[in-house]
Amino acid sequence: MSTDALFHLNITNSAYIIAAILFIVGLKQLGSPATARNGNRMSALAMLIAVLATVVGNDIASWEWILGGAIIGSGIGAYSARKIAMTSMPQLVAIFNGFGGAASAIIAADELIHLIDGGGAIAEDVSITIMASVIVGSVTLTGSFVAFGKLQGLVPTRPILLPIRNVINVALLIGMVASTVWLIIDPSMTAFLIAGAIALALGILVVIPIGGADMPVVIALLNSYSGIAGAATGFVLGNNILIISGSLVGASGIILTRIMTKAMNRSLANVMLGGFGVEDGASSSGSDDDRPVTSIQAEDAAMMLAYAQSVIFVPGYGLAVAQAQHQVRELADLLKAKGISVRYAIHPVAGRMPGHMNVLLAEANVPYDELKDLDEINGEFQRTDVAVVIGANDVTNPSARTDKSSPIYGMPILNVDQAQSVIILKRSMSSGFAGVQNELFFLDKTQMLFGDAKASIEKIVSEVKDL
Ligand code: NDP
Repeated sequence: MSTDALFHLNITNSAYIIAAILFIVGLKQLGSPATARNGNRMSALAMLIAVLATVVGNDIASWEWILGGAIIGSGIGAYSARKIAMTSMPQLVAIFNGFGGAASAIIAADELIHLIDGGGAIAEDVSITIMASVIVGSVTLTGSFVAFGKLQGLVPTRPILLPIRNVINVALLIGMVASTVWLIIDPSMTAFLIAGAIALALGILVVIPIGGADMPVVIALLNSYSGIAGAATGFVLGNNILIISGSLVGASGIILTRIMTKAMNRSLANVMLGGFGVEDGASSSGSDDDRPVTSIQAEDAAMMLAYAQSVIFVPGYGLAVAQAQHQVRELADLLKAKGISVRYAIHPVAGRMPGHMNVLLAEANVPYDELKDLDEINGEFQRTDVAVVIGANDVTNPSARTDKSSPIYGMPILNVDQAQSVIILKRSMSSGFAGVQNELFFLDKTQMLFGDAKASIEKIVSEVKDL
């Protein structure tokens, strides 16, 4: 290697080491709401350094193509990230995961075409990594798009169970192993394309039987897959930073999957193999339930809150829909000024993405020490005067403890039903994401304040100010 080439290699590798350190520190900072913004910036800078070092340090393609792709890709990324509603963020994450998988599969295909055209023998380890890249990448692509469809309501959220799905899955797995062996023995594009097609089908078949209630786990797992596919592609290309960043995404995705399965009280095998979620004919779905509930007005809610000693706010997906976080913070400030203890109970799967409630409340500058996770707050409800449920439903449903037919049976819930009294802010008697009725609404201690959460809290705030 010439001195010039060696110099270039050293510069590239040094840039990769800096990027890797920034990725790791950035990831660590994402662990706390206080440092998360900085962590995000740091990781974005790391990605910029990694991309620049790869493009400058390697003779990949002409500048026009790279620049054109970068401008179009960054434009689409920036536009969609700015325009997307907070409530649709999980769909965006699902699509990005899918595209990550697709990129890995396409690069593996390109590398194989080059190797076959080169005419020489392909080492076994290279064939295996190419196949890992295309298989994991393709499963991630179609699996993510099915998850997107379920979250967006384009595909039914209930489990879709094909009659002989286990037979089909086993046949596909055998086909995948066979085509991998074929590619190792006799490198050909046909074996590659068969494996890719099987993996695309498998992505659909694996996610389609999973019910809506288990989507948090699926998204976290697909996130991890997109990282694994990226790392495999890093091995194919011999690109260190792709191996490192892919492994970081793969590992953190698996940790997130673990946190999510724990939050849902499910094993991963249980989620992936069971076809759980909303079962046809399972517990009733809210709107068809005509049992009476107690309905109150904002004045009544204001009175209950102003004369309480302790209040716990329980935010859920409806808070994100209503964008009521600033009003909640204002109400909390008013109550605290009256000497009332205020805390927020954060369920790990509240909302539609991991950390959804933390992000929303951080936007309104709610102090982090008032956010309490499930384990921390659950023992406190029985000592609390009023629990205010703001657009949360499934994460407060007591039937998760007892009703075996419920799709959320076994999921740990917030013990809202143990508070002295409960106010529920929602627009109607509709069910939550899992599609089941919430027994909490029918308790004697529960009062329903119907309406958009933002409008309701605005009214409560103005009533509390007048008291
Ligand atoms: P839910 O989806 O169970 O319930 C949300 C409630 O908000 C609905 O009942 C709805 O009732 C109410 N709502 C909607 N809009 C408004 C509004 N403008 N004002 C007031 N209320 C409103 O939410 P939870 O947070 O309790 O539970 C999360 C669910 O999502 C769980 O089932 C979880 O498994 C699932 N999930 C979570 C993911 C995650 O990573 N966190 C990812 C994917 C799914 P109404 O229409 O009557 O107003």
